[in-house]
Amino acid sequence: MQPTYPSEASEFRAKITDFLNTNLPADWTGIGALSDDQSAEFQSEWRKTLRATNLLAPNWPAEYGGGGLTHIEQVILNEEFAKRGAPTAGANDGFSIGMVGNTILVWGTDEQKSYYIPRILDGDDVWCQGYSEPDAGSDLANVACRAELDGDEWVINGQKIWTSQGHTANMIFALVRTAPDHSKHAGISFLLIGMDQPGVELRPITNMVGHDHFNEVFFSDARCPKGNVLGELNNGWAVGNTLLGFERGVAATITSLSFGAEFDKFVEMARARGLADDPLVRQNIATFYTNVQIMRYRGMQALTRYLRGEQPGPESSIGKLFWSHHHQAITEAAMHMLGAEAMVGFGDESRGGLGPPAIGTENTPSNWVASFLIARPGTIYAGTSEVQRNIVGERVLGLPKEPRADSGPWKDSR
Ligand SMILES: Cc1cc2nc3c(=O)[nH]c(=O)nc-3n(C[C@H](O)[C@H](O)[C@H](O)COP(=O)(O)OP(=O)(O)OC[C@H]3O[C@@H](n4cnc5c(N)ncnc54)[C@H](O)[C@@H]3O)c2cc1C
Repeated sequence: MQPTYPSEASEFRAKITDFLNTNLPADWTGIGALSDDQSAEFQSEWRKTLRATNLLAPNWPAEYGGGGLTHIEQVILNEEFAKRGAPTAGANDGFSIGMVGNTILVWGTDEQKSYYIPRILDGDDVWCQGYSEPDAGSDLANVACRAELDGDEWVINGQKIWTSQGHTANMIFALVRTAPDHSKHAGISFLLIGMDQPGVELRPITNMVGHDHFNEVFFSDARCPKGNVLGELNNGWAVGNTLLGFERGVAATITSLSFGAEFDKFVEMARARGLADDPLVRQNIATFYTNVQIMRYRGMQALTRYLRGEQPGPESSIGKLFWSHHHQAITEAAMHMLGAEAMVGFGDESRGGLGPPAIGTENTPSNWVASFLIARPGTIYAGTSEVQRNIVGERVLGLPKEPRADSGPWKDSR
């Protein structure tokens, strides 16, 4: 089954293909083929090209410097970029454009939009996400980091943890407690905080592939202007959830392309090792092929919703749950195929983010080992699988809510 695109779509597809042919290097095979340094250099230059051609934030209105593209055009752009292994944005843009930028466009005042949106596009502000705390992960509404008004400024005290790429950011969006006497969900605000100030201290946390991917962030009398609340005061739970919908759902239409490429590599490795006739390997191949097809159909479903102009809602949890478990299963099966060779250590692929390997990544044992390790946190970040199942149960299927022991005023559990 193929999705049917409106006739004008093929014209736009040709335009994007031309753009890629003109702007990608002649010997381009995908960003996965570049070394760490080459990749960082390419991405920073590529971001400038996308910015100059209004393709950096294709969904944003033209008046804010976005591409003003229709939903179908955005999907085509994502598809063509994914097929070529070309990034659609720069390093922290998942946070800057994909999360906070999109959320500012939904919840921001005119003043906030006209101040922050151009700064994001120009790379003047690079964002990270300050949601989790030692006692507030799945139970996110338990955030204890406080902000208190002092004249025209908020004074922030407390701690965030697991702040991905915090060391490359100058701004953090944080859920903070602004009304400790209100009930748990009702006393939180969504605050935009500058990181380049003495009251903000970062300590790196090294992940299991040896990268300082995330950080602890400590606020000690850090400050930000009173006007830096996004959405209304004490309405941070609603604003924060809008952002989580973008975090979990945004790539639905192209997920099957990158996982399809990983699947092809799995089959290639089975053939190269003379295992293509092994019944267990064949069974795995059938399962993983089916999974990729399910992702493709879900992509079409998401496409239909985008075409209706709907925002990603709680259904995005289904996709997150599905791809993260698939990724663990296929990489585990690869470890079984490699056997003792899986002890070779891990390769450069570990830099490619938390999803499937970037297009162009070499099909080597060490890159599979990296993928296996990188697939582990997939079922934790952006909400654990148990939390996603609760969301699907309660908010998609309308099942009765889990008993909550935490109604009434918020209690500081530190
Ligand atoms: C790679 C990575 C990057 C991350 N980046 C960021 C970031 O940039 N910014 C940020 O703010 N956070 C980030 N996080 C943190 C992430 O959001 C949390 O780890 C996640 O929400 C889980 O919280 P926790 O680690 O405190 O685990 P806990 O909430 O303590 O969960 C422990 C276990 O209990 C289970 N559990 C908890 N509650 C329930 C329930 N109600 N029902 C059933 N089971 C339950 C969980 O599923 C889990 O298995 C990142 C995490 C990872 C792994």
